[in-house]
Amino acid sequence: MKTMETDVVVIGGGATGAGVVRDVAMRGYRTILLERGDLAQGTTGRYHGLLHSGGRYVVSDQRSATECAEENIILTRIHADAVETTGGLFVSTPGDDPEFPDRFLAGARDSKVPAQEISIAQALRQEPRLNPGIWRAFAVEDGAVDGWQMTWGAANSAKEYGAEILPYHEVTGIDRDGDQVRRVRAHDRKNGEDVNIDCTFVINAGGPWSGEIAALAGCHDVEVVPGRGIMIAMNHRLVNTVVNRCIYPTDGDILVPVHTVSIIGTTDVKAPDADRLRIPAEEVQLMMDSGEALIPGFRQARAVHAWAGARPLVKDNRVSASDTRHMSRGMSILDHHERDGLKGLLTITGGKLTTYRLMAKNIIDEMCEQLGDDRPCRTADEVVPKSESGKTYVVTHRLEEREADRLEEQIICECELMTRKSYLKEMHDRPSSNFDDIRRITRLGMGPCQGGFCSSRVAGLALHENLVDVERATGLMELFLKNRWIGLWPILYGAQVRQTALDQWIFSGTLDIEHVPEPEQAVL
Ligand SMILES: Cc1cc2nc3c(=O)[nH]c(=O)nc-3n(C[C@H](O)[C@H](O)[C@H](O)COP(=O)(O)OP(=O)(O)OC[C@H]3O[C@@H](n4cnc5c(N)ncnc54)[C@H](O)[C@@H]3O)c2cc1C
Repeated sequence: MKTMETDVVVIGGGATGAGVVRDVAMRGYRTILLERGDLAQGTTGRYHGLLHSGGRYVVSDQRSATECAEENIILTRIHADAVETTGGLFVSTPGDDPEFPDRFLAGARDSKVPAQEISIAQALRQEPRLNPGIWRAFAVEDGAVDGWQMTWGAANSAKEYGAEILPYHEVTGIDRDGDQVRRVRAHDRKNGEDVNIDCTFVINAGGPWSGEIAALAGCHDVEVVPGRGIMIAMNHRLVNTVVNRCIYPTDGDILVPVHTVSIIGTTDVKAPDADRLRIPAEEVQLMMDSGEALIPGFRQARAVHAWAGARPLVKDNRVSASDTRHMSRGMSILDHHERDGLKGLLTITGGKLTTYRLMAKNIIDEMCEQLGDDRPCRTADEVVPKSESGKTYVVTHRLEEREADRLEEQIICECELMTRKSYLKEMHDRPSSNFDDIRRITRLGMGPCQGGFCSSRVAGLALHENLVDVERATGLMELFLKNRWIGLWPILYGAQVRQTALDQWIFSGTLDIEHVPEPEQAVL
């Protein structure tokens, strides 16, 4: 049993938890972040990739729209390396509500979201694949944002202020002393050790799992409804700007260019369990049909991966319990002193990735008030590590670096131009990583081959460099392929079937992967 002591324990290492731990550390408290998996492995790693301009909410939720517009500017500055300033369009396609565009413009004006009507010719020049039947178009300041880069950026900034970041630590209990939180108990899933952390305050940033975490402290009935949404990555940037349908928010109405792919999404269905999210065939079909409305020929493009995430939506008694699209997307802070008579525990849920910093600010302002401390938030004033140059991300950056001075470096993942050197650096920095941990940082296996060519290379290299033994190298490769497969089988059609048949032949035919001995210890 390991024991530690700190002022504030933050539970949950998604964007919100990383934002909270950064804010806490920057205000001068000692703090520890506990995440049961790797950072940004929950909803933050399973979302659409859109840095909202606010446009999506100008009619349905003007407060959220304004918050998005303001945070968009701040995040582009402090997380330049994670944000691509693609710009965005809202377009009316044939058959869309004829009255909505005027409501959109009026809503944008009222909520201070920059939006400008442009001619159809200009929109089609900008995005030549767009449906030529569009009849109105508006330019907005949407962008693309890498949730993993953003979360690690905030966490690394927190570390510079003395925070401890503990991935793979699952919280198993929250102990109280009378009406005051005293200790958080966690289990280190990598080495099997139990950890007790004495503290005076706990912030629950558990996203769709916040209700279960609050229950560990005896605070029951925190209703966070998981709103399941699916997304599909197409193997090209079919568009270079974010393309939204100019209609009331609905399924499949946004196409986001993220790194080398474009992502169509999403749906919104109440899920019974945030850990088991389905990708039903009819929703895949719906995404294809919706993509076709924006980009004729979309169905013929190759889908490379599908995934689902769960929105942490706070139940609002005004709407039906199954209608997740109309629940509050705004943030909610639960004060467990007021609600349950327990001092030193606050829960933050809801919101969006785009508003993660503001969520963190609001909850830590509340914590400071309860502690009687006057310590202002500074997270908007300072950029996170790796964003100091102020240069925002561009999709061509790896090619530029390669042509500048890395032509001799061996490429391990051709789809994403990932080099041997960058892979080994990550493995040396975090030797207990699995290949999905590496993927989230480097995009290993996220392109058209989906791990078919690169996974055996990274396993071999880890072995060659003595970073792992044979058993773990094989186990890591198997785990990586299994996780890729979860996102492949729902979209097996067309060219993707041919790729999968080739991968099957490589792994079963040449490496006989189905008959390698099972590792004695489960690989994590
Ligand atoms: C389909 C979909 C599309 C979306 N698209 C967008 C978009 O384009 N733009 C946008 O701005 N927002 C978008 N969002 C919203 C955004 O993704 C979420 O609001 C945000 O990621 C939530 O972050 P979080 O940190 O609150 O939750 P999470 O990222 O889920 O973090 C919670 C963490 O708590 C951890 N945890 C759970 N239990 C424990 C425990 N016992 N011990 C330790 N850790 C624990 C989990 O592992 C998880 O990592 C989308 C959401 C969905 C579902």
